[in-house]
Amino acid sequence: MHFTMTGNKILSSYGTTIFEVMSQLALEHDAINLGQGFPDGNGPPDVVSAASDYLENGINQYPSMMGLPALRQSVAEVNMRFYNLAVDWKSEVLVTSGATEALAVCLFGLIEPGDKVLLIEPLYDSYMPIVRRAGGVPNTVRLNPPDWSIPFDDLERAFIDGAKLVLLNTPMNPCSKVFSRSELERIAALVVKYEAIAICDEVYEHLVYHGVEHIPLMTFPGMRTRAIRIGSAGKTFSLTGWKVGYITACPELMMSLSRTHQFLTFTTPPNLQAGAAFGLKKEAGYFVQLSNELQKRRDQLANGLSGVGMEVLKCEGTYFITADFRGTGFQGDDLQFCKNITEQARVAAVPVSAFYGGDDVKSYARFCFCKEEDTLMEAVNRLRRYFVC
Ligand code: PMP
Ligand code: GLN
Repeated sequence: MHFTMTGNKILSSYGTTIFEVMSQLALEHDAINLGQGFPDGNGPPDVVSAASDYLENGINQYPSMMGLPALRQSVAEVNMRFYNLAVDWKSEVLVTSGATEALAVCLFGLIEPGDKVLLIEPLYDSYMPIVRRAGGVPNTVRLNPPDWSIPFDDLERAFIDGAKLVLLNTPMNPCSKVFSRSELERIAALVVKYEAIAICDEVYEHLVYHGVEHIPLMTFPGMRTRAIRIGSAGKTFSLTGWKVGYITACPELMMSLSRTHQFLTFTTPPNLQAGAAFGLKKEAGYFVQLSNELQKRRDQLANGLSGVGMEVLKCEGTYFITADFRGTGFQGDDLQFCKNITEQARVAAVPVSAFYGGDDVKSYARFCFCKEEDTLMEAVNRLRRYFVC
């Protein structure tokens, strides 16, 4: 048996994630961190209280492997409330330690070595390493700025080529695209035609703006047993450190997923599950306000970035704005730009090329707007002082 000090070749071929790199650089330079996506508030106080009450008065031992019944029931209820999906909480809902674990559960649970997996770039950083580590063969289809339109011919070619799984992220990080009903219809038809399974990363499901609607792929004909829906309390309650995720899937798929989860984390802190269960029961007004507030912050940051010469792309959802920075006069690529503004203007962002395997998308930076009004105002002032006056 031969072990190397560098460990597994696939995983050690990836550096530290761009989110950690930029957050560390932001700390080092006392920069306002608009890189990694996290709010600067502390979440809804009643949700936090529900978790702390449970910590004091609940049962702090291993909860059920599938998750606290209260949270699984809440997840089933919101599936019905928001999307008219009838879900059996006992056999079709699994609680995970964040959507990140949910994604790993789906990929490790469903991929056989050699299986082809369709991924859509730009993609979230954990997808590719886990697909590869699970033995999957990635087949990547690209969306490009500025319009991020879907190349359906490429998509179909990947299915013809044998993709068994497709990983779909809508609302989409980092490009803030929300897949439309007609796009989803076409994707659903392909998934059915080629008898594939769709893993749907919907962590930003409630963060959509200006009347844009998030529609789960699971609601389309033929998709109830072919789509897996992943949500995250971290995003829905602006508590990203909680790492509470949830999966909705038909019992047949859930069998493989729960088998995987039991060997990854087995369970998730019960008090945080109780907080999320409470949160998901909140009235419609909470979800409307969350999106209205974020929409205001999006517009505030978009105006500020335009004011310093950046071209802000359409943002229909998520926490993020993508901006073409060439109008600022900066000469260099996106990583250099993000490092430069972190060190010199003391505002951090994330280079969009980090979400692509290739390196030809080089003039876009991703800025996070889920921050207090004052934080964004100060960030824009710093950028203005650096680029304009
Ligand atoms: N998917 C996407 C698209 C994300 O942006 C994130 C990051 N927050 C996650 C999954 C992971 O979510 P969680 O923090 O719940 O693990
Ligand atoms: N989802 C967050 C983002 O896109 C980062 C989460 C992480 O750092 N792993 O910024």
